[in-house]
Amino acid sequence: MEKIVSLCKRRGFIFQSSEIYGGLNGLWDYGPLGVELKRNLKNYWWQVTVHERDDVVGMDGSILTHPAVLKASGHVEGFSDPMIDCRTCKAHLRADQLVEKKGVKQCPNCGGKDLTAPRQFNLMFETQVGAAADESSIAYLRPETAQSIFVQFKNILEVSRKKLPFGIAQIGKAFRNEINPRNFTFRSREFEQMELEYFCRPEQGMELLEYWKEERLKFYENIGIPRNKLHVLTVPDDERAFYSKGTYDIEYDFPFGRQELEGVAYRTDYDLSQHQKASGKSLEYFDEEAKQRFVPHVVEPSAGVERTVLALICEAYSEDQAPDEKGKMETRIVLRFRPRIAPIKCGVFPLLKNNPQLVGKAKEIVSRLRPQMTVFYDESGAIGRRYRRQDEIGTPFGVTVDFETLGEKDPALRDTVTLRDRDSMKQERVTIQDLPAILRDRVV
Ligand code: ATP
Repeated sequence: MEKIVSLCKRRGFIFQSSEIYGGLNGLWDYGPLGVELKRNLKNYWWQVTVHERDDVVGMDGSILTHPAVLKASGHVEGFSDPMIDCRTCKAHLRADQLVEKKGVKQCPNCGGKDLTAPRQFNLMFETQVGAAADESSIAYLRPETAQSIFVQFKNILEVSRKKLPFGIAQIGKAFRNEINPRNFTFRSREFEQMELEYFCRPEQGMELLEYWKEERLKFYENIGIPRNKLHVLTVPDDERAFYSKGTYDIEYDFPFGRQELEGVAYRTDYDLSQHQKASGKSLEYFDEEAKQRFVPHVVEPSAGVERTVLALICEAYSEDQAPDEKGKMETRIVLRFRPRIAPIKCGVFPLLKNNPQLVGKAKEIVSRLRPQMTVFYDESGAIGRRYRRQDEIGTPFGVTVDFETLGEKDPALRDTVTLRDRDSMKQERVTIQDLPAILRDRVV
């Protein structure tokens, strides 16, 4: 993990938030490469969840949430973790983080045994909307994106004219005042969720729970997280939310242990029924064929953007041996991202920076490729060093413009370049003409 955290900072994936002021715990900023990685992940999720399906539409709800919504959903009352303080080192701890030695509970930081009794700590961030700072102005930063989907269910049903089963998808920020943020970005206080609420008839719920679990496993494989690193945990009855008839956690083998990436839950009709009761507005669906009116049930796959980004980086990180400029073997750090996820798709390098013809050709290639993909132009340093810099950030392809491109050695090679593959380090010669199409086929 240390190597990964340091690479993330050194190469501009992830920085601590407000770092120059000492940082704010549990908050992170994503740099130039991190933001590309995040966007690629979110775009691919949106593509397969919304654009490629006829039965899912999207929405984008507000972050500040009316307290009535979160009262009805149960968050104001119950969205809390049991907290214990260590009187010795003053740490605030989540009850399940205590360590037990010889049957005695201890503080994991200092080993202290003088602990307070557990008390419930609500994880929601509260704020005030408008100028009047009183009870009536309280609002919350949403702790999950799902509630705005439930609250807009009727509007979206009407405008989209979808029939059951159908889903509403959303990607957006969520906030939780976690007692103990840790494991780099894994448990943060501000994060993004990719959530789908897939509404159905009651009798379809269990079957759709299985269906969505399988779809989500396929998704992770398609972004480069192999099936053997993923684990499906069936959440036991006593740990499941009381309204859920079945929940799976999809877990990944992080370097710090096996941890949840995503929850897939069959939430029955709990959320819509609660909002119907509390708002007094009907959230029922009318099934024209069966001539039935009922509150739909829902299956929810809910994934975390940052946790998936972290899994992608952990999975991609590798070290191998490669020859340096003088042919001596050295350790090479490579992020083996799937091309569709890689922040930069292609590096373009003129062999020499002081040769205007080489530079001109390389820049021409950059402008041809840029409308289609992220490209990094680099003319400084030995070519081997430039390859290494791109390997380290996971750029899958490298294009080098050399003297053969100018037709100096063999006129038949004029306007061809070398195309290097990050993983095999093999090079092939392709024409500049064919390059955009070749890369387009390989970056999906
Ligand atoms: P955990 O048990 O790890 O706290 P959870 O079961 O409370 O997670 P859910 O409420 O099911 O999480 O949220 C769905 C997803 O949102 C999680 O699988 C995770 O990917 C993401 N998520 C939840 N809390 C955090 C957090 N504090 N930081 C980053 N991602 C989070």
